[in-house]
Amino acid sequence: MIRPILVVGNPVLRQKAKRVSQIDKSIQRLIDDMIETMKAAPGVGLAAPQIGVPLRLAVIEVEDKITVIINPEIVKSTGQVELDEGCLSVPGFWGRLERAERVSVKALDRNGKEQRIRDADGLLAQALQHEIDHLDGHLYIDRLDTLDKLQRSEPLRKREADARRDSEAAEEPPAEEL
Ligand code: ZN
Repeated sequence: MIRPILVVGNPVLRQKAKRVSQIDKSIQRLIDDMIETMKAAPGVGLAAPQIGVPLRLAVIEVEDKITVIINPEIVKSTGQVELDEGCLSVPGFWGRLERAERVSVKALDRNGKEQRIRDADGLLAQALQHEIDHLDGHLYIDRLDTLDKLQRSEPLRKREADARRDSEAAEEPPAEEL
């Protein structure tokens, strides 16, 4: 079931989410709903607080691979990169910010098994950091030096239409929404 995505201003997005203590049927249903909601948005990632559930759980889809992280912790981060980033809970904007270039994350998978994601880089590293921030009540806009750095993005459908029309033009892709 697709769930409504909360937007900035909703207090649930600012709470520190609680650890998942038991991975039962209701959690499996929640994970399925989150994957469906993320795909429909469309987004690269979605954290449970974004649909109003203050639990430490997020889903990520990068290169057609879905990763479910429960009670995740960043155990190592290295390097620094500047990235363009957007968030489904901050619609219509994107910003450029600094994040670690690579991260290693420890988390449970949806079967409750401990998983290690070692030295993730690129979009996966960005998404892991972005979603874990959500679980601590942080949004990417908090990481900008100033909100003047926030850029307005056109609605996705218009961007896609423009991209089709100007397929020759070497335009930068829009920032990913997570
Ligand atoms: Zn987000």
